[in-house]
Amino acid sequence: MYDSIIIGAGCAGATVARKLAEDGGQKVLVLEKRNHIAGNCYDALDEYGILVHVYGPHIFHTNDKIVNDYLSRFTKWYDYQHEVVADVYGKLIPVPFNLNTLKLVYSEEKAAELTTKLINKYGMETKVPILELMNSDDEDINGIAYYVYNSIFLRYTMKQWGQKPEDIDPTVTGRVPVFISYDNRYFQDKYQGMPLDGYTSMFENMLNHKNITVQLGTDAKKCMEFKDGKIYYQGEEFQGNVIFTGQVDNLFDNEYGMLPYRTLDFEFENFKEKSYQGRALVNYTVDQDYTRITEFKYLTNQKNDESTTIVKEFPKAYTGDTSETPYYAIINNDNIAKYNKYKKKAEEFGNLVLLGRLAEYKYYNIDAIVGKSLEVATGLMSNQIFGRIYNK
Ligand code: UDP
Repeated sequence: MYDSIIIGAGCAGATVARKLAEDGGQKVLVLEKRNHIAGNCYDALDEYGILVHVYGPHIFHTNDKIVNDYLSRFTKWYDYQHEVVADVYGKLIPVPFNLNTLKLVYSEEKAAELTTKLINKYGMETKVPILELMNSDDEDINGIAYYVYNSIFLRYTMKQWGQKPEDIDPTVTGRVPVFISYDNRYFQDKYQGMPLDGYTSMFENMLNHKNITVQLGTDAKKCMEFKDGKIYYQGEEFQGNVIFTGQVDNLFDNEYGMLPYRTLDFEFENFKEKSYQGRALVNYTVDQDYTRITEFKYLTNQKNDESTTIVKEFPKAYTGDTSETPYYAIINNDNIAKYNKYKKKAEEFGNLVLLGRLAEYKYYNIDAIVGKSLEVATGLMSNQIFGRIYNK
């Protein structure tokens, strides 16, 4: 029999599974609803032989050596340093807005003056959230903030969230701050890159362990029951750890109502050309219905002179329809209050852990959820969470 059951084979599920199986000597069952592992990091060859990220672009970056070392056991990396440009009425400018962007949108003289001002006020290599920059009492800095807000944030955020930047959680727009630097990279983390053979291959290696059984195409709700503080697997009470990484509202039959999400429609296109846009990412920040275009060969360094595949992302509200994927939790006080009811309900089960973007209703990056999953697994093994000892 199994010591732990993990629901979901994405970043969270795969990491916990490996850690419990390897370091804890546990027999682990992973139940995955989809017919593939790797969650939203799942990548696969399309019909033109190009490796695409089926659920949109995922770029690994971290300052956490533990996470980087852990994942590096399961993959080699292509040293990819992510850069993004925004298409502002046909003009391409680096995002996050930085000192190079400044030179592209102001005259040489004005840009030099503003650069000095920004450096004096904030210091080199600092990051300032746009909403903070807008509060500046300096007229010039306010002018920059106004430009950045209107040219980079307003329309993109309206498309992505259906709300203005100031009306969404500040940590969301804070992910893309104004950067007082000449560094055009999207992330400044010490470690960044793309798994050399793709994410699916990395997670395959992670899950490939004698103590791990993965069942694809298996909806946990069909073989498990969560009732009166007890968990049942195939009709019998299961007293081991259950780590749930799916939608928590769904787990409890939407008892307190559905948790709101944004979802995306993806439009993949292949062109019989060597290159479509000459770079991995272009954000459309002032027009178009899609937020961004990803050209995969530049993300993953694929050599293909015959053709190239791109994807456009069209955000919309998640309705709960089974054809949709809930990608982004909409963080606000009401939704957190609703989530907390589910969390409280989950706590009635002494052996249930909620983990990951969906189960914790959080905007996790890959590195953050891998780090958290390693901690949770360590906690489970060292008797900190359930009062059971699984180290054998
Ligand atoms: N954002 C924006 N314009 C951009 C890039 C980002 O307005 O060109 C805002 C938008 O609200 C977005 C958020 O910043 O949802 C976070 O962007 P990030 O690139 O981190 O989004 P992700 O890749 O996670 O979808």
